[in-house]
Amino acid sequence: MSGYDEIYDVIVCGGGTSGVAAAIASARAGAKTLLVERLGTLGGQMNVSGPPGFAYARIFNCHNERDVGGILYETYKRLYKAGHALPSLRYRYRAKSAAVFSYVDPEWWTILIYKMMEEAGVILLLDTLVVDVIKEGNTVKGIVVENANGRNEIKGKIVIDCTGEAYVAIRAGAETVCVSRDEIQPHTLAFTADGVNWDRLLDYVRRHPEQFTYGHVMNPHTGTSLEEVYEFVRNVTDIRELGEILGFIELRDMALANGDWHPNSGVGFFIIPREGGHIQAHFQHSTHVPRILPTDAWDLTRGNIECRKQLEIAWRFFKKYVPGFENAYIVRMCTELRLREGPRIVGDYVLTREDVANTRQFPDTIGKSSFPAGGYHVASTDTLAVNEDEENLSFPNGSYDIPYRCLVPVKIDNLLAAGKCVSTDRPAYLRYLQQTMVTGQAAGVAAAICARRGITPRELVKDVSELQAVLLEQGAILFETVKQEEAESWL
Ligand SMILES: Cc1cc2nc3c(=O)[nH]c(=O)nc-3n(C[C@H](O)[C@H](O)[C@H](O)COP(=O)(O)OP(=O)(O)OC[C@H]3O[C@@H](n4cnc5c(N)ncnc54)[C@H](O)[C@@H]3O)c2cc1C
Repeated sequence: MSGYDEIYDVIVCGGGTSGVAAAIASARAGAKTLLVERLGTLGGQMNVSGPPGFAYARIFNCHNERDVGGILYETYKRLYKAGHALPSLRYRYRAKSAAVFSYVDPEWWTILIYKMMEEAGVILLLDTLVVDVIKEGNTVKGIVVENANGRNEIKGKIVIDCTGEAYVAIRAGAETVCVSRDEIQPHTLAFTADGVNWDRLLDYVRRHPEQFTYGHVMNPHTGTSLEEVYEFVRNVTDIRELGEILGFIELRDMALANGDWHPNSGVGFFIIPREGGHIQAHFQHSTHVPRILPTDAWDLTRGNIECRKQLEIAWRFFKKYVPGFENAYIVRMCTELRLREGPRIVGDYVLTREDVANTRQFPDTIGKSSFPAGGYHVASTDTLAVNEDEENLSFPNGSYDIPYRCLVPVKIDNLLAAGKCVSTDRPAYLRYLQQTMVTGQAAGVAAAICARRGITPRELVKDVSELQAVLLEQGAILFETVKQEEAESWL
């Protein structure tokens, strides 16, 4: 059957943010590239179970330098020019802590990604589940898929696992690590609302800045005082300047006392841009289900059922307690659970909390990040993205490098990982959007080079000069960060 008889240079499994970046980068680097995705659409957590509240975030570090380029920044620029992204929120307190948000409209992001796939010549196979790998000894030779055509094998020189949860690496027998069911971060069912009276809400927020949480903007390296943030909030004139509105502490406590809030998550939402300057409220922390392993379908089922119950409680709370939500209505409930934590491969290098805290640079860098290490959600009423166990957060003083070796699983050949499941310790988990697109793009280029040169991804470790050169040609930032003025000279 056509399509199944071909031998591809590169097969990308999973079409989330890491997978689309990997496929585009691989095709642009000249490889015959197939992307296989379980669902009928691309984007993964960016749209199917999202969008992430802060998409994109932290593409500028605490010195106000952009540390991410490549495919991610290309999408931001293209969406911005088409009116589907907001200017980066870079107020003083945000810039000082690298908590700059550069919002994109997730629906138009997806449309753009399809366009970029076509431009690059990526071959797509959607509605197709990767169920196994073809292996000879420890070398991966392709994948086994199930879809409307039944069960088929597809051969490829290099396979990239971009499934988020290391499904392919596990099938290939790669070593992976995952925290236990008791420790794993809670997962979420996200939803989006419209019809909010933003003026009414803004009036409340301005009068009560102390009712909100700002933990993630407190970078000890550059120092931000809470009073500085309060002062900013008191003077906000457009709700878009806030980006996220998290806390509602007094209202939440009142609701808890009245039995109108559930014990698993805090209260808050993010703003997402829509056409014509319209904005909506996006909730990604109002449901929190602990003890769910993404590798167990029974757990996932329990999470889906429980999240829907919590969603109803949360929405009743917003309508009853939060000024501005009186006539608001839900426009979208995600169809899939948002999975916060899952298995990571054990790679030739394991990125650690110390690497992040010491802003470490590596000779085999494939990109940078300025996200702190050690942020975990737990299922409790005062836990939102921002107060992920603040005491455990280790902030870098600038941008640390992501080494290529984190993408190469130990022992298994011709397999690379990208996205959430690359090799890190738990605190340094590279799960944020921009990180997944950085590792995705690098895996795509590395795979294309290996396929062309007939070498394994591990052999490429010995000399990464071509990998780095092609990534630089593709606009990635590996060595020099870009000062804000220069970074935004195109605006
Ligand atoms: C509640 C929540 C809030 C978050 N908020 C933010 C935020 O505000 N900002 C931010 O930057 N990040 C945020 N994140 C993190 C970020 O959104 C995700 O970690 C990131 O999108 C993961 O990208 P990925 O490509 O690794 O995986 P995914 O996006 O999960 O993509 C994996 C893809 O693989 C496909 N797939 C899986 N198995 C198979 C298979 N066997 N065969 C074929 N296809 C398969 C899936 O359908 C999916 O499309 C959040 C995460 C959660 C859970």
